[in-house]
Amino acid sequence: MYRLLIAVLILSWFCLTAHAQNDLVISNVRVFTGQEQIEKASIVVNGGKITQISTAPATGRVVIDGEGKTALPGLIDSHAHIFAATAGVTEAETRDFVRTKLQERLLAMVRYGVTTVKSLGDPTDIILQVRRELRESKLSGPRMLVVGPIFTAVGGHPATSPVCQGDSWCRSTTAAEVATEADARRIVGRLADQGVDGIKIVYSGGVREGIEMKKLAKPVMEAIVDESRKRGLRATAHVVDEPSSLEVLAAGAWGIEHGPGEPLTSNALIDALMKPPRSYAPTLYGNTRNNPALFQVKARTVTQAYKAGVRIIAASDVSGAMPPGRALLEEIQLLVKAGLPPEAALRSATSLAALHVGKEKEIGSLAPGMMADIRAGKSAGEHCGPVPNLPGHSERQGCLQR
Ligand SMILES: [Zn+2]
Repeated sequence: MYRLLIAVLILSWFCLTAHAQNDLVISNVRVFTGQEQIEKASIVVNGGKITQISTAPATGRVVIDGEGKTALPGLIDSHAHIFAATAGVTEAETRDFVRTKLQERLLAMVRYGVTTVKSLGDPTDIILQVRRELRESKLSGPRMLVVGPIFTAVGGHPATSPVCQGDSWCRSTTAAEVATEADARRIVGRLADQGVDGIKIVYSGGVREGIEMKKLAKPVMEAIVDESRKRGLRATAHVVDEPSSLEVLAAGAWGIEHGPGEPLTSNALIDALMKPPRSYAPTLYGNTRNNPALFQVKARTVTQAYKAGVRIIAASDVSGAMPPGRALLEEIQLLVKAGLPPEAALRSATSLAALHVGKEKEIGSLAPGMMADIRAGKSAGEHCGPVPNLPGHSERQGCLQR
């Protein structure tokens, strides 16, 4: 993918060859580092890593003139469903999806500048194979982070919700239904041994499309979070109400996803997200794009949390017919609509998202030592989609991925 995109960039943009040892220089470019903007900078890349960003000119074997363009870190979608609710429900449908549709969906993400994706609720063996093939460049697409199945109660979402339509293979691979603390610890341990990148918990109940969803017992949820921490994995939790959000954060969860659908009743949740710092991924696109009333409620909570300094994460919850890649851009736009300044919304999909998925030392920022995971473009660029109206930012984007 890296070579392909470099080639496209070279074909698309003016470049020249110089007798210097730097692999690549993007010169004269506006840089959004993941934190702030630098005007007319040069980004120097060697061995796939950024070695320098400065306003001093630099030379390299390949120089891309970045005049009129903006470079920013590759975007990170930290809540996506590559398989669950996307690939069908039966094993045969899922394997057919891998053969016929997966590659195009992965490429769509990169076209929109999404260079890292965390996928939730997938058949562990298949998603690990996909991650391996992406690493080995047998598949082209974003960097893949995986959690395998989603921890839930026996009879909880997504095991018995409409996601699996009663299919037993889907149920057993999309969800890890756990009844006891011992089961919880054993399965976290097994997933850790298999090499997952994080743990995902559903901690909500209620009725969905007429089906009653069971909720994890609190001690079992606490055991999942505790065992994840012991195994060096960050556990995040699907929650939809304030008390459950407070319980998972008290247990030590790294962040909450979706979050309350009702107005906050006090400052308790904001305080719990701040001390110690935890993530809040409201998944506005996935949850509210067809529900303006819910958007208004969640927008107020997002603004309140942002103003208090909470780490807001842009995460699309893309699945099924939602457009991969574009869904994250929609999420960024919705965060802006909810009240975040454009630069803050971009931080939510870059530097803060990297911290959320535990990759902050490699991706999410443009700085020396970071991977050359760069999204750059100009108004006539062919790749990727629009980003929010960052002051002076171009409408269409190009990508450079490592
Ligand atoms: Zn989801």
